[in-house]
Amino acid sequence: MDGPAGKKRKTVAHGRHLPEWERQTGEYAGWIKASLKGQRYSFCVPCGMSIEVSASGFCDLSKHFETKGHQDAVSRMKSYAVTKAEVLFCQFVAEHNLPATIADHFSELTKEMFPDSEIASVLSVRKGAGFSDQHFNLNKEEADEDGDEDGDDTASLRWKVHAAKMPDEALRVCLKELKRLKKMSQSMPEYARTRNYLDLMIELPWSNNTKDSLDIQAARTLLDNDHYAMEKLKRRVLEYLAVRQLKDSLKDPILCFVGPPGVGKTSVGRSIAKCLRREFHCIALAGVCDQSDIRGHRRTYVGSMPGRIINGLKTVAVNNPVFLLDEVDKLGMSWQGDPAAALLEVLDPEQNHSFTDHYLNVTFDLSQVLFIATANTTATIPTALLDRMEVVWVPGYTQEEKLEISNRHLIPHQLEHHGLSPQQLRIPPKTTNDIINRYTREAGVRSLERNIGAVCRAVAVKIAEVTGGSDPMEGTDIHLHFPTGAVTKNGPSAGVTIVTCLASLFSGRLVRSDVAMTGEITLRGSVLPVGCIKDKVLAAHRAGVKRVILPRRNEKDLDELPLKVRYDLDFVTADDLDQVLNAAFDGGFPGKEKKQEAKQQIKQ
Ligand code: ADP
Repeated sequence: MDGPAGKKRKTVAHGRHLPEWERQTGEYAGWIKASLKGQRYSFCVPCGMSIEVSASGFCDLSKHFETKGHQDAVSRMKSYAVTKAEVLFCQFVAEHNLPATIADHFSELTKEMFPDSEIASVLSVRKGAGFSDQHFNLNKEEADEDGDEDGDDTASLRWKVHAAKMPDEALRVCLKELKRLKKMSQSMPEYARTRNYLDLMIELPWSNNTKDSLDIQAARTLLDNDHYAMEKLKRRVLEYLAVRQLKDSLKDPILCFVGPPGVGKTSVGRSIAKCLRREFHCIALAGVCDQSDIRGHRRTYVGSMPGRIINGLKTVAVNNPVFLLDEVDKLGMSWQGDPAAALLEVLDPEQNHSFTDHYLNVTFDLSQVLFIATANTTATIPTALLDRMEVVWVPGYTQEEKLEISNRHLIPHQLEHHGLSPQQLRIPPKTTNDIINRYTREAGVRSLERNIGAVCRAVAVKIAEVTGGSDPMEGTDIHLHFPTGAVTKNGPSAGVTIVTCLASLFSGRLVRSDVAMTGEITLRGSVLPVGCIKDKVLAAHRAGVKRVILPRRNEKDLDELPLKVRYDLDFVTADDLDQVLNAAFDGGFPGKEKKQEAKQQIKQ
């Protein structure tokens, strides 16, 4: 690389090296780490080495590389033209959203180093701009604030415009607008309009794209996994993808899926994007009757906006997404122009590399966008538009297909959507068939999916009722104290009695006064057998108790009891706590009942 005084620099034109720079930008992500220390610049270069150069030394970077012995970096640096360094400089400042004062300093420095380069004129030069410590903070927020305070953010905007990698025509327009912006007062409505325009131009994915990855075998599996039946459509989509793989051409006809609502047209479009690993964006055309919906309003209009195509590109932030033009058969027409005509331009491979949105007023290349259209009928698609497209019919489903689609896709999808597990809700085929026959009347499966969703919602409420609700035990610590000196036999066999007391305490309900009980209880609520049943039952009988609750495994001990006692008492044997509580409280224990009821309903 020549120094600033080298001859080569003077002969290199700024614009000529842009394409090379664009190709190589990825390599220089390392520059982002650059930081400023006083009047010296410290750069982290791609090989991970950090160099420090003074303002005057910056222009002779190659020397620094050489003295450090990093041959790799040296050879890379040598491949730069001086212009390239300038452009990187420009990009670096843009990426860091540098405060205006720093940008100005860069600008003066660049001017000094590259007096005849375009870059110096690109930068705003403000004489006497100070370089104070607080300006060296590269924190983005602070930089933004700084810009706002200054009221002069055109310098950073200029850097961003340069970094947006737009074609020359668009760049020229932006620079012109920037020039105008600089002369305007911020209070002028025109200022906001121009600013919005420039922001959009910066945001548009002029050169951003995703790399296609097309594996036909994987695409076939993906399509099969996502969709049941629709063999014809899947075959045509695979053919389409295969041809694209072989020919790498985008001038194929536009596929238009035509069929009743809910047969999976949109869903297949989404899968195509997934197969190609492209971004997906759906443009709803139903009811669009103004061509500016597609092509934008001219900026002279108040409240003008770009059209849906440009908006979609801004949303996906890449220039090669899959755009699904949904419901082309429902395009309207009015005195505001024919949107179908605008669409024709969008879909025509001969024209769409230079699509002009009225708002942008510069061309945008749509040739990398993959368009797919959907419609319910071909009858209302404008003929010229229909001519550009290849219609693929998507028929409705049979009862059996609907059942299979429900089991494989709709039910699992709805369960997940409602946060339910397959254990919590199982819809038997008979129920699905009933929903199909008695609650829906359609060719597709959209209502069916909605009805399954309704079932999921109802079950979700039931489950939330059982598992949710305020926990009466929350924030409560229970300490049970058995004073020594009590009857020594009181041991584990008081388990069920203690739990019953606690249940009464927390539910606020009274236990029947004529009940006696015994039984050991495990942490999971199983009731285990205990000893001395005969003594305990006789004592209960003496005390006038009417009902005795005891472990089921103690049932055999009842044989030892006198007949009279057995006749007088009502014995309830229990395996688990639920049965104990149900017998101990009048009318059963509500918690359990509710749970059972909910479980029952879930099963149904
Ligand atoms: P359309 O665009 O034809 O009106 P959608 O693509 O919006 O229909 O499909 C509606 C719903 O039905 C989506 O959730 C979709 O996944 C599902 N669906 C439709 N057909 C199938 C199929 N063959 N296999 C799996 N799911 C399907």
